[in-house]
Amino acid sequence: MSFLTFPRLLKKKPSNQEEGKRYIKVGIPKFLNIWGTAPFWVGFFESLGMKVVFSSDTSEEQYRTYGKGRITMDSCFPVKALAGHIGELLQKDIDILFVPMIYSLPSFLKGHVLDTLCCTRVMMAPENIKAGFLKERDEFKERGIKYVSPFVPFAEPELLPKYLYDSLKEAIEGLTYSEVIQAVREGFKVLEEFEKSMRSKSLEIMKWCAVNNRPALLILARPYHMDPGIGHEIDAEFQLYGYPILWYNYLPIDDWLLDWLGISLDISDVWTSSYSSNTNEIIWGAKFASRFPWITGVIRLSSYECGMDQPTFTPVQKIVESSGTLFFKFGELDETKPAGSVKIRVETIVYYLEKYSQEIIKKKLSRLGDIPKKLLEPVSQSA
Ligand code: SF4
Repeated sequence: MSFLTFPRLLKKKPSNQEEGKRYIKVGIPKFLNIWGTAPFWVGFFESLGMKVVFSSDTSEEQYRTYGKGRITMDSCFPVKALAGHIGELLQKDIDILFVPMIYSLPSFLKGHVLDTLCCTRVMMAPENIKAGFLKERDEFKERGIKYVSPFVPFAEPELLPKYLYDSLKEAIEGLTYSEVIQAVREGFKVLEEFEKSMRSKSLEIMKWCAVNNRPALLILARPYHMDPGIGHEIDAEFQLYGYPILWYNYLPIDDWLLDWLGISLDISDVWTSSYSSNTNEIIWGAKFASRFPWITGVIRLSSYECGMDQPTFTPVQKIVESSGTLFFKFGELDETKPAGSVKIRVETIVYYLEKYSQEIIKKKLSRLGDIPKKLLEPVSQSA
């Protein structure tokens, strides 16, 4: 999108414009808690008749090409990586650059959950990194791109339309408040459907493990460790050895399964300081892993300079190991993929998994009642 065509696009409808469509492209950096909320944003903007363009996955090359020299303060790598995403999107054909300041997240946990806040570095990352694109000249204005960065309290959905409308109304001509209310509803619907499908996929994998008596691994990390440039695809290395991978944030939460495992959606027994959404879910995932027989190993991922993870390392490890489940940590991950050392560690971990998995499954099963029939139902396709 050139500087000259942008204003025209916002003012004038093309003659062949379909009803309800806006010919506006919104660029969203695929960073931090966009991993986990992306379906909401797709549902939201598509409901407004707009097209979403995401940046690529994080990579060392992306960071060095578009983000270098843009960092204004030292931070953890997942925050720094945002500079590469913004820089990349500035080269694309977009009209609006949408970088939400996500303050809190929706959560499936219940009971004693004090709050579902994001890490403060996550919330402030857009402001922090934006400064790097303004310090010499306004690179957004120069490219005719409107930078929009609303405050987003997902945990208070009734406030979302107001914050989103206020931040978008100047960038989108003719936008109405009622359209935004409808778009928020649509966003939540798409997000819910996506999460439901992911949880049911996890259940399929778990059923396959139960039927075939095969071990699986659970990843405990933050949602953005799914980004190959942040989590360095460590999970995929284990898949190469035939270990199915489950992610803590998409575990099934069916009542019959939780009843059998003897856990609820509450974490007050192990984590009373439950303010952080991602942390709360990591702790819950640890409880789940310690009970589910066919999860015989847990892989913990954590990024370089992550202050939020520090206090959780010991409790998470203790919860997991309390049942004899194996626990391994890959900490201090940064922009460099330590391919060689990851491979060596994976080989060592696989050795222990092979040696102890069947014993762990047996021990964990002996503490539970009869395996629910639903877990032994044949699955439609191989995991
Ligand atoms: S949780 Fe950790 S890695 Fe994530 S943004 Fe906060 S400090 Fe950085």
